[in-house]
Amino acid sequence: MSETAFDIVIAGGGMVGAALACALGERNFSVAVIERQAPVQDWPEGSHDIRVSAISRASQNIFSNLDAWPEMRRLGVTPYEQMVVWESGGAEIRFHAADIGEPDLGHIIENRVIQLALWRRMEQLEKVRIFCPASISAFQADETQPEVTLNDGRKLGARLVVAADGARSALREMAGISTGGWGYDQTAVVCTARAELGNQASCWQRFMPTGPLALLPMEKDLFSIVWSTSPAQARELLAMEADEFDAALTHASEQRLGRLSLMGERGAFPLRLQHAKAYIRPGLALVGDAAHVIHPLAGQGVNLGLLDMAELVDVLLRARDRNQPLGALPVLRRYERARKGENIAMQGAMDLFKRMFSNDLLPLKMVRNLGMSTANRLTPVRNLLIRNALGTFGDHPSLTHPGS
Ligand SMILES: Cc1cc2nc3c(=O)[nH]c(=O)nc-3n(C[C@H](O)[C@H](O)[C@H](O)COP(=O)(O)OP(=O)(O)OC[C@H]3O[C@@H](n4cnc5c(N)ncnc54)[C@H](O)[C@@H]3O)c2cc1C
Repeated sequence: MSETAFDIVIAGGGMVGAALACALGERNFSVAVIERQAPVQDWPEGSHDIRVSAISRASQNIFSNLDAWPEMRRLGVTPYEQMVVWESGGAEIRFHAADIGEPDLGHIIENRVIQLALWRRMEQLEKVRIFCPASISAFQADETQPEVTLNDGRKLGARLVVAADGARSALREMAGISTGGWGYDQTAVVCTARAELGNQASCWQRFMPTGPLALLPMEKDLFSIVWSTSPAQARELLAMEADEFDAALTHASEQRLGRLSLMGERGAFPLRLQHAKAYIRPGLALVGDAAHVIHPLAGQGVNLGLLDMAELVDVLLRARDRNQPLGALPVLRRYERARKGENIAMQGAMDLFKRMFSNDLLPLKMVRNLGMSTANRLTPVRNLLIRNALGTFGDHPSLTHPGS
């Protein structure tokens, strides 16, 4: 017998799980969030999180609608107005917010800022109860009364359980959902660097045969660096003395931002593509990285996860209005249908991009150059690409619309 019952139990209070809890709690669902580690509550001034996210307009709208955006702004967000993508000795494409009458193309935000702002919002909501530190040791699937057991033995009943516990989701495994995918044989080396020429409110991305180098603007003259490369080169980059690393980074960026100097630590993330074979089971739905892991080259991972949670909210509101069980497969299939195809398409596009640009064969290079220079010259194509990056193109769930 469950000791406590909730409408929704969410495993994982990361960026996607916490956003989902806020949205559901505000809409009068009772929610339990099971998280093994509370977010960092404060940090020394001038320190930086090496993990950042490029947040699309659609995700910004979600944060605003959850009342978490003002706190994120207070803690620090950096808008960017321009994006420059280039290949050495090849073509270049530039996107500018002014081309489509927008103030910016998105924001770069440290993950700890997103996480803390959502956590604080979650704590304000009466309908949300946080179990932390805690984890789930058993899951019992059921269309109407799924149940989880916590590591301390407590049992929580629910009408729906959601796995938002990241790429290595324990709940996904407990539910017997397998994943497909492959390693990219690439590692992302991440750090913060200071640029001699300032941040210029621009994101920069250079494609190299070994992988893309992304420079994402942060306050004043700082950039967050995501340098995807071979595991061997990543090891070398991590082992270098700071001045040697500065020289390698400056060289890789073709000095577009002048000299780059490392600030603080470096980190490394092995990159892989992963997709859950199913997003749902009776009484269970997967969201965010628990469902899909994508190459970070277009900075889409958490943006896709937020679209998952926003779609799930729409589906659950509709089911409640119609008096349908929240965990019933016909209800959950609406969610899976809406999200799985789109996530696979985005994963496929990023995979194709990654493969096309990791190859120095001359014919492929010519196709790339032609594609980039054509897209750069054709205003409608460029504007369509910008709208797509903003996440405001196409049919999206209600929470992504301003003021919903
Ligand atoms: C180098 C790099 C750069 C990236 N850049 C971007 C970017 O610019 N833009 C973008 O959109 N995405 C980016 N991503 C992807 C993005 O970081 C992920 O998509 C995002 O973190 C997924 O969020 P999530 O909440 O689904 O999962 P997670 O962030 O993994 O959160 C899962 C949560 O569940 C908790 N948890 C896990 N297991 C358990 C358990 N057993 N019990 C209880 N709690 C548990 C964890 O503590 C955590 O809080 C990047 C990824 C990498 C590697």
